[in-house]
Amino acid sequence: MSAAGTTPVRASQVRSWAAESDVLVVGNGCAGASASIEAARAGADVLVVDAAGGWGGASAMAGGSLYLGGGTPLQKACGVADSQEAMYAFLKAATGPDPDEAKLALYCEGSLEHYDWLVACGVPFTPRLWNEPSWEAPSGYGLMYTGGENTHFFAGIAPPAPRGHIPHMEGKRPGERSAGWMLMKHLVATAERAGVRTRYDTRTARLVVDDGRVVGAEVVSFGERSFLRARQGVVLATGGFAANRAMLAQHAPRVLGNFLIGTDHDDGRGIRMGQAAGAAVRHMEAAQTSFPADPALLCRALLLDAHGRRFITEDAYPGQVGQAALFRQDRQVFLLYDEAAAEEVRHAGGYVAEATWVSDDLAELEEAMGIAPGVLAGTVETYDTHARQGRDPLFHKSARWLRPLTPPYGVLDLRGAMFGVFTLGGLHTSARGEVLNLEGEPIPGLFAAGRTTSGIPAWGYCSGTSLGDATFFGRRAGRSAAG
Ligand SMILES: Cc1cc2nc3c(=O)[nH]c(=O)nc-3n(C[C@H](O)[C@H](O)[C@H](O)COP(=O)(O)OP(=O)(O)OC[C@H]3O[C@@H](n4cnc5c(N)ncnc54)[C@H](O)[C@@H]3O)c2cc1C
Repeated sequence: MSAAGTTPVRASQVRSWAAESDVLVVGNGCAGASASIEAARAGADVLVVDAAGGWGGASAMAGGSLYLGGGTPLQKACGVADSQEAMYAFLKAATGPDPDEAKLALYCEGSLEHYDWLVACGVPFTPRLWNEPSWEAPSGYGLMYTGGENTHFFAGIAPPAPRGHIPHMEGKRPGERSAGWMLMKHLVATAERAGVRTRYDTRTARLVVDDGRVVGAEVVSFGERSFLRARQGVVLATGGFAANRAMLAQHAPRVLGNFLIGTDHDDGRGIRMGQAAGAAVRHMEAAQTSFPADPALLCRALLLDAHGRRFITEDAYPGQVGQAALFRQDRQVFLLYDEAAAEEVRHAGGYVAEATWVSDDLAELEEAMGIAPGVLAGTVETYDTHARQGRDPLFHKSARWLRPLTPPYGVLDLRGAMFGVFTLGGLHTSARGEVLNLEGEPIPGLFAAGRTTSGIPAWGYCSGTSLGDATFFGRRAGRSAAG
């Protein structure tokens, strides 16, 4: 029996159990914490284990945006109209291809209740709308557009509404003092009040099965191996696999060579333990991809492919731009902008990286960029001509950002720049959080949630659909595990 492998241990091989609970939750990020709360509230004795020295995982580093809608009290307080139908239509278009429609329908139907649940857990939201292009809203703003709902294509599918609900956090610092930490603080405190027990520095290595049913797990803590029994169910909530190079090479090779948005514990262990117990996986090639430039600069600039042509509206949700640049352009992209754009971004507190080349002469830039003569000049002339008329017939960028560029031009060479990534694929689960086998049947005793599973962001991503999905379906997995 190698602790490095994931082949399940047979219960008959377990000589003694180091601890027992009704429900064993593996991972104390937002999916695991939500599962533990609901399992405990359903009357189960719950033990949560985490490989790290404390709670939080990637959730505690996150910008904290939770994708909720349909007319939440926060949306109403910000004067925003929304409906469940609009939310569903938007998410179906934005998170595909192949979104899980059963999960999507439940997620939209339950969004108002889920908002109330978060608030009842103590998660604070400030009723103030942030309407600027950025990855995160500054402290003091609780609602923002996080999926490009108000951009050309999506605005034609459903009435746009901002749905990124951000917990209030004073003195934010991305990745450190984040709104995600504030979310986690309240979820963990709620779990403690519900009687949930926790063990840290405890890495789960394998599942224990008894006649096809998952009945516990083998864990390693400070080099000591032991077994934890789960009388009713095990919930896997160990995050994704962006830190596992071998899994990336196997499932999402284009993602290799970028930087991880998450923690070293995103090593896919939970997914592999589930697979070893017979689970199916979905959308393992999918990844959220952050574009390596400030969204405020992006929407004021021209994003060009390796041949000097635009390929997407620059005011799209920056994660969508990132996916297009990584998956469709293989990161071979340039950003062209003028001093006025850079000045506006700096003035708004944004970041403008030093341009790779600056010139008044587009022919000179073409040569430096290694693109065919005349293409860049053609791109800029077409853009400027239409911008003077306040339109962008090629990609329909919002008139808010349209204006002819003024030389000198700056070009940022982003070929080979690292994108921030986390994986979206994972275990195939039902909307109840049951882990499904290759026949689509639940594996008895096994449940999962969060980025260990494929959820609402099936392939396309909007900021907030990870924390939103992980907490929403984490709750369901916890309840199902508690029976
Ligand atoms: C800087 C940053 C900003 C982000 N912003 C947003 C945002 O605004 N909105 C959004 O929706 N998403 C955002 N994300 C993504 C989001 O944070 C994650 O996708 C989400 O938190 C995943 O939640 P989870 O519960 O599945 O995993 P995690 O929160 O990572 O929790 C998994 C836990 O499992 C533990 N674990 C792993 N393996 C084992 C094992 N073998 N045994 C025991 N324990 C184990 C880990 O230590 C960890 O604590 C952001 C991420 C980062 C890093």
